[in-house]
Amino acid sequence: MINVTRSMMPDFEKYQEKIKKLWETRWLTNNGDYLVELERRLSERFDTQCVIVSNGTLALLIAIELFDFPKGSEIIVTPFTFAATVEAIIWQGYKPVFADIDPETFNISPEEIEKRITEKTVAIMPVHVFGNPCNVEEIQDIAEKHNLRVIYDAAHCFDVFYEGKSVYKFGDISVASFHATKVFHTIEGGAIFSDNSELIEKARRLRNFGFNQKVEIVDVGINAKMNEFQAAMGLLNLEIVDEEIEKRKRVFEKYRELLGDVVDYQKLSERLTKYNYIYMPVLFADEKTRDNVFEELRANSYNTRKYFYPSLNSIFSRQSCPNSESVSSRILHLPLYGDLEDEHIENVCIIIKRIVGGK
Ligand SMILES: *Cc1c(COP(=O)(O)O)cnc(C)c1O
Repeated sequence: MINVTRSMMPDFEKYQEKIKKLWETRWLTNNGDYLVELERRLSERFDTQCVIVSNGTLALLIAIELFDFPKGSEIIVTPFTFAATVEAIIWQGYKPVFADIDPETFNISPEEIEKRITEKTVAIMPVHVFGNPCNVEEIQDIAEKHNLRVIYDAAHCFDVFYEGKSVYKFGDISVASFHATKVFHTIEGGAIFSDNSELIEKARRLRNFGFNQKVEIVDVGINAKMNEFQAAMGLLNLEIVDEEIEKRKRVFEKYRELLGDVVDYQKLSERLTKYNYIYMPVLFADEKTRDNVFEELRANSYNTRKYFYPSLNSIFSRQSCPNSESVSSRILHLPLYGDLEDEHIENVCIIIKRIVGGK
């Protein structure tokens, strides 16, 4: 069975060597050396500040918690995202208000955001969908005009650069996921990125039960600490992630070459200066075709993924978001990872073409 993704992993002996130290130091978590080093490396790489946490969902919860929004507040969010984005809003006791997406970029539409603003709106939570940067300037203008915070779900954005800057630098806060299925991973993991030192310091306290550096409790925190085994995995993956992205680029381009205009694609931002090839999303003409392709590929031992599906407005609200519903019902992610062999890329494309036929 070929899966939709395959986690990259460092050389086993290197990992063994790295974690051996932990049997001597017995410092397994709580701001260990590896965690501190990983935070430093990521801050340098992306030219912003960073707090690493145990998963991306906790990073979202902490990001929302930073602002102490009043009870009953509304947060404008895209319906075309992974469940965690919206669930974080609901867990925090706020109301998600959905703004539909642009059908070409798959990102939240700035015009739709403006239409959803009420006197209860406190924040916008856009997602850079599949690593495609949102229109960050327009979103920032709306936020400033209406005095809203911007929390980006940048779960897919490791190494995504927009006009030469990491997309993690935009908004008040960006949240990353380092889950095993993402381009760069720490098995489970996530991070909060921001250029705002005050927010970063607060996130650091919230990660560790609200303790400040003098071990006084100054916030209502939680436990979102990453352990040293995972940080060690992250440090070693950091050494091989550039190569992994290069290899993914080849696979991505091969698919595009073989599929041509048999399927539609996400329109990537023209201002992207580096992309990470995290996924291989393709769009079919209708849901039935998408589902046929899904089943037929599965029958041939290829696992694909309907992602994001369903459109979350249909689960968490009674709003309608036609663009998001349409893309959700027609999208499929093909297997993509660095070491995927040509033979499999070719097989997948042959099966798709057989079902779709030439356009
Ligand atoms: C993966 C993902 C998350 C959640 O991250 P975890 O690390 O799995 O908790 C949140 N949002 C989006 C868009 C994701 O793809």
